[in-house]
Amino acid sequence: MTFFDPTAYTKRLERLVEVCRNLGKSEDVEHLLQQVVNAACALTGCQYTYLFVYEQETDLLKISAGPVEHRDTLARIRVPVEKSITGTVFQKSRPVTIPNPQSDPRFFRDIERALRYTTQAICAVPLIFRGKTIGVLEAVNKRDRLPFDEDDLLILETLASQAAIAALSTSLMEETRNAYEEAQELEKMKNNFIAIASHELRTPLGLVLGHATFLRELISDDQHRNQVDIIIRNATRLKVIIEELSNVNGFINGSVRYHAKLIHLNDLIQKICAQHKEKAAQNQINLQYILLEQDIQIEGDEEKLSIAVGNLVKNALTFTNPHGHVTVALEMLPGFIQISVDDDGIGIPSHELSKIFERFYQVQSHLTRQHGGMGLGLSVTKSMVELHKGQIWVESMEGKGSKFFILLPIASSSNLDTQVFLR
Ligand code: ADP
Repeated sequence: MTFFDPTAYTKRLERLVEVCRNLGKSEDVEHLLQQVVNAACALTGCQYTYLFVYEQETDLLKISAGPVEHRDTLARIRVPVEKSITGTVFQKSRPVTIPNPQSDPRFFRDIERALRYTTQAICAVPLIFRGKTIGVLEAVNKRDRLPFDEDDLLILETLASQAAIAALSTSLMEETRNAYEEAQELEKMKNNFIAIASHELRTPLGLVLGHATFLRELISDDQHRNQVDIIIRNATRLKVIIEELSNVNGFINGSVRYHAKLIHLNDLIQKICAQHKEKAAQNQINLQYILLEQDIQIEGDEEKLSIAVGNLVKNALTFTNPHGHVTVALEMLPGFIQISVDDDGIGIPSHELSKIFERFYQVQSHLTRQHGGMGLGLSVTKSMVELHKGQIWVESMEGKGSKFFILLPIASSSNLDTQVFLR
């Protein structure tokens, strides 16, 4: 017969509260689970306590914490969900107190065999988090062969609720880590594929273009000339795509070369607009530019800046309807040069704005899909702007138009040593 001892009871409660308070401070989940098991063992006064967590891949329960001195042995043991007392607690999600497990047909003996003891009593509670059972906390053999009582159950349940949160956060962390590693692996495969494909396509395409251009010179009749022109035009389009692909890859693997020189910004913008004059005329779009009052030079890679701004102009002309307007403007701001490309075209839905600079991303709408493209232009532009220590962003309203901004630092804080020169 056991007597109620109020002092001992209060002490146990105080200890439980203290343990729970300290558990909240622990950041290392493994350590926290071990603390739960140690506390459960001390507060229930039992021989061993185990914390089982359900393993989805094996459909078994593994021991996440137990007596530390047997950690290696316990790590090898898995408990079946079917035909075990622990498994029943897990499946039914209900606590049990079993005074004589040896005569219970569900009793699973691997643990007592491995640790060489005899199980005389078990008290086990489920680990429940947000209505989902994720494991079991189990105490074995109360000291002096006493039976487990209601207080022991209460202690185990209180500690199990703490452990459940910790165990779940580990499994979530593990899932996130695995998903991240998988994504990294896929990204690597994609980059390798791009690198190989663009490299392998470049040589035959160069030959097609070279020979077609040579043939064009030899052909005198207009009909055949037109046909060769189609070959040249399309092969040139393919060349641009391959160049974009290898540009993107160059930025990713750091192999891109930077050829710095002084760039006359007004000239750069005029040249880019001249290159797009034909497309603007074809699409019946009014393409204009606003230059700086003074001729300002900055140091940078002219070809790359020209591709960056050219992509913005090309997009503006592509996504603007006939009779629309596209304006490329240069503006001097304190410490920066701002280049903007403004259109009154179809605009970009607000929920797409953050994604359009990602590689291969295209706004999924019939209006954009009909223009083809590979979703690479803006990511190339962004990489080239960042190579110049600049920033790029967009303001847009669906149906009203878009304005892309490039901000290039003038200050010599950039490691490119960018400077301003007046002519
Ligand atoms: P693509 O080369 O396929 O056009 P980009 O990376 O240049 O790819 O652009 C990504 C997507 O952003 C485009 O498919 C288009 O949906 C959207 N976009 C870019 N510029 C504009 C613009 N000026 N107006 C409307 N949509 C745009």
